[in-house]
Amino acid sequence: MNPVKQLFGHLVCCKDVSHLLSRMQEKPLTPIERVTRRWHLRLCAMCERLDAQMRFLHEAMRRYRQ
Ligand SMILES: [Zn+2]
Repeated sequence: MNPVKQLFGHLVCCKDVSHLLSRMQEKPLTPIERVTRRWHLRLCAMCERLDAQMRFLHEAMRRYRQ
């Protein structure tokens, strides 16, 4: 089995990634979570779109608060 898949395989369902994406707004991800996110986004157009949306919202919120 591919070691990367072995390591992250159980983490990369869309549900878990969407959790990461929303948690990312409150606190930084751990290095493993970051890799997991990046790896998943490369394979999954749906979460990639969600990620872009989240970042857009996050950025908008940040600007609003300043
Ligand atoms: Zn996904």
